Amino acid sequence: MGVTPLPQTRTDRAWLPRRLLVTRSARDFAHGRGIVARAAASGVEIVELAGDRLTLGLPDDPRRAYAEAKATLAVVVAPPSRRRLQPIAPSADWRVDLAEGCPAHCSYCYLAGSLKGPPITRVYANLDEILDGLPVYLGQGTITSRNEARAHEGTTFEASCYTDPLAIEPLTGSLSTAIAWFGRWRADAQLRFTTKFADVTPLLGLDHAGRTRMRASINPRAFTRFEGGTSPVAARLAALGRMAQAGYPVGLTIAPIIAAEGWEAAYAALIEDAAAALAGVPGLDLTVELITHRYSPGSKAVLEGWYPGSALDMGTGNRVTKRTKFGSEKQVYDTATMRALRTFFERRIGEALPAARLLYWT
Ligand code: SF4
Repeated sequence: MGVTPLPQTRTDRAWLPRRLLVTRSARDFAHGRGIVARAAASGVEIVELAGDRLTLGLPDDPRRAYAEAKATLAVVVAPPSRRRLQPIAPSADWRVDLAEGCPAHCSYCYLAGSLKGPPITRVYANLDEILDGLPVYLGQGTITSRNEARAHEGTTFEASCYTDPLAIEPLTGSLSTAIAWFGRWRADAQLRFTTKFADVTPLLGLDHAGRTRMRASINPRAFTRFEGGTSPVAARLAALGRMAQAGYPVGLTIAPIIAAEGWEAAYAALIEDAAAALAGVPGLDLTVELITHRYSPGSKAVLEGWYPGSALDMGTGNRVTKRTKFGSEKQVYDTATMRALRTFFERRIGEALPAARLLYWT
């Protein structure tokens, strides 16, 4: 569908949907009712659905349908099939979903390739059931059992695969609940999330016991023209510094790494900014994850439909086709570009952030 891109703005304000849909079953859960109450108190239109089917009522016009979907939060119940965890290498042992979808507008969004249908955000009302289902996965992962550098983290659970949990935290409170739950749980388990948002104030005073690692998902200012509705990069780095000061283990997710003109100077400045934001943190526990830009034919088609005016390069120059172990294809940078990027990042990070542990390059 041909959709004119939304203004590529950065924001420090909490996201508020224009309307909230809540299913009948979601209203049976206190967490679901709490989300509805907070949204209503903020003036959000509340639509109580008679059943459990999400009736979206989106307009036919693709531009308006996209905008309305992105401005909609649905409170639903995660069925047992959704609560069955999937392995999620190389980030973590397991993917745990507190929600699905994200209100921001990034023209490289990886969700375009993973989630189907209109881009509404669904948050799960049965958070307690989701969390209570985690113990069975303890010790079952492959990342921390096979990777010596990460073995001390215990079994790791990634909450940012299908959403940005901090983007919706002011209304949902799901991330705070999960952090506190892991804080009460056991030392050989870790919750992880990565975010392009910056409002960490509600997280600072939680009893996290050092069992949640927050990573800031960052790109140079010059490349944030490919994002919309996210927090400014400087605010994300400042938020990460506050979390580190509050005793959380932290990390940088530099993603997606884009080999556009001027990348070297732009990323050098970004790494310096990150080092400055984390300087002087006592006992800093810092990791770095490096993820190069990639896309599949399916995600490219969706993203070009949502953001036809984006300057993000999804052409064939300096790209090669990589086949995944599941048989699907994705376009990644060619060998020479990958080598130049990797050499640069490993050197620069080693110089500017010598305490950082590099978790993976992909
Ligand atoms: Fe996608 Fe992340 Fe941007 Fe949200 S913040 S639209 S999840 S890339």
